[in-house]
Amino acid sequence: MIADCHVHISPWSGWSNLDAATKAQRAFDNSGIDKVVLIPLAARSVVDVKSCFQLAKKYPDKYKVAPQITKDLFELVRENEEHIAGFKIHPVLQEISPTDSRSIDIINIAEEMEKPIIFHTYLQSQILPLEEMSPFVFDKLAKTYKNVNFVLAHSCFPKLYDAYCLAKSNKNIYLDLSYFANVAAGTSLFADFCEMIVGIDKKVIFGSDFPEVEIDTYIGMWKFLLRKLPYDKQENIFFNNGCEVFGL
Ligand SMILES: [Zn+2]
Repeated sequence: MIADCHVHISPWSGWSNLDAATKAQRAFDNSGIDKVVLIPLAARSVVDVKSCFQLAKKYPDKYKVAPQITKDLFELVRENEEHIAGFKIHPVLQEISPTDSRSIDIINIAEEMEKPIIFHTYLQSQILPLEEMSPFVFDKLAKTYKNVNFVLAHSCFPKLYDAYCLAKSNKNIYLDLSYFANVAAGTSLFADFCEMIVGIDKKVIFGSDFPEVEIDTYIGMWKFLLRKLPYDKQENIFFNNGCEVFGL
């Protein structure tokens, strides 16, 4: 069983003008994926947010949505509450710091709706001072909003050691495995992180970041990297943790 908790169905995936439901079903079925968290980004397209909700309505057992939204979309969110897996905040794309009042608005609504927040934590930005995206910013947020679960997309790459410390230090911080394996593969840093995962198997969630990566290949890469982990720990990472945190 696999839950892919980081997927975009968006114009750049080439699915927006096609039968998204059919195409998505085929891709995920071929990769053995049972559950999917769709992450549409309102900063790119509000139409994406709406079409992801349509997909989740059509296949509620398979899809849930963790949209990046702005305040004006709260009503749409309320109407689709049963299909919400969580909310995404993308500081780089939105050009806002994780502690900006617009981020805090979303964290507050997540707390009220008892949903997790997915933060984009890949440490690169042309605009945002990197200090504002330091892993320790998320440590502070997690300690301030103790009732909210935070999923750190891309595990603060390249600060993987820091991400490990955050997951160990905060019961409400989880790490997502999306995308960064592509960049990190072959480095000693990454090899260390894969060894350390054994100690945080209940805090790590599989996600691909499709269409940034090819799903089959990416799953195969992580399956290979984590092959020495006991089966129950692999199950936690590839399925159980995502289901628990996102209510899949
Ligand atoms: Zn992504």
